[in-house]
Amino acid sequence: MAEKRDYYEVLGVSRTASDAEIKKAYRTMAMKYHPDRNPGNKEAEEKFKEAAEAYDVLRDPEKRKRYDQFGHAGMGGAGAEGFGGFGGAGGMSMDDIFSMFGDIFGGHSGFGGFGGGSRGSAQQRVHRGSDLRVKVRLTLKEIATGTEKKFKVKKYVPCEHCHGSGAEGGSGMDTCPTCHGSGTVVRTQQSMFGTMQVQSPCPTCGGEGKVIRNKCHFCGGEGIVYGEETISVKIPAGVMEGMQLSMDGKGNAGKRGGIPGRLLILVEEEKHPELVRDGNDLVYNLLLPFPTAALGGSVEIPTIDGKAIVKVEPGTQPGKILRLRGKGLPEVNGYGVGDLLINVSIYVPETLSKDEKALVEKLKDAEHFKPSLSVKEKIFRKFRNFFE
Ligand SMILES: [Zn+2]
Ligand SMILES: [Zn+2]
Repeated sequence: MAEKRDYYEVLGVSRTASDAEIKKAYRTMAMKYHPDRNPGNKEAEEKFKEAAEAYDVLRDPEKRKRYDQFGHAGMGGAGAEGFGGFGGAGGMSMDDIFSMFGDIFGGHSGFGGFGGGSRGSAQQRVHRGSDLRVKVRLTLKEIATGTEKKFKVKKYVPCEHCHGSGAEGGSGMDTCPTCHGSGTVVRTQQSMFGTMQVQSPCPTCGGEGKVIRNKCHFCGGEGIVYGEETISVKIPAGVMEGMQLSMDGKGNAGKRGGIPGRLLILVEEEKHPELVRDGNDLVYNLLLPFPTAALGGSVEIPTIDGKAIVKVEPGTQPGKILRLRGKGLPEVNGYGVGDLLINVSIYVPETLSKDEKALVEKLKDAEHFKPSLSVKEKIFRKFRNFFE
């Protein structure tokens, strides 16, 4: 190993240089010798690493003081606690160096994307297919019992010709000629702050760092084609309008053997012709003929799975709620079941024949055909409760 150069010399600054001067000097060096701008140039890479190591020491007041006092001897080796990336070997890993860029060039605008070893993982980058959203329309009857729905989904599916690899006849991968495997390209841009380095995913390989030697002629190397899949989904009982079910792996296929996205299933409720849903309860508005309300009797009530016969007491008032326990909808992930509520309203004939009219005229002034005070109060209490 060659003799280590003096850190100040490496960065081309004086021993009394300020933090700002050191930072600026390092920035210049890093840009000049950045591997992405000097592909395959070993000497540039060495200089790049050397500058990073020098900067890592001189930017830290503690380390700089120690270096000033003891030189390189104070930096290396055993027991050098607090020396971060330097460990015993005295060299920084490329990941350390790239993560340092985050500090220097500020977040995502500059080299930020290099941080935390993302660079090293470019080659193993896995494509994730996007999520898909479908709607499923359910009747209340289906919601009451739960159901299984089958439907066709138009989406990206793995290419059968290349089995999703994107490579024709099992041909292999080459290192991307544009980014030389890094998965990113760096452009120099002029801005009001001076020259800026802008990093973006490599347009040739899309950030993978590798390109397929012979692209599958069927899918153009993507490994996916637009197609459809018949999907069967179990819908639990009790779901509600607006709920979303999620199926992992049933969304769009990922490119080149990647991970498929999710299929999100949005529940839509079909309106029932006679029943209204209120949470887990169902509500039925009973239009009770006046004679039945007065005399009492039996009425037929529609339920989710058929009909029920309900007894009506003599003198049943409008606004009375009858309750059929357990005839509502089940709780989606619980044990409870809602009720079927019957709201009593009284049917008043819209037209009358001559004979009918005569009958009603007779009743008009009859003793019990005007509401008593207590009935008025009773009904008004219910009415007021409705608003509270
Ligand atoms: Zn293919
Ligand atoms: Zn590339």
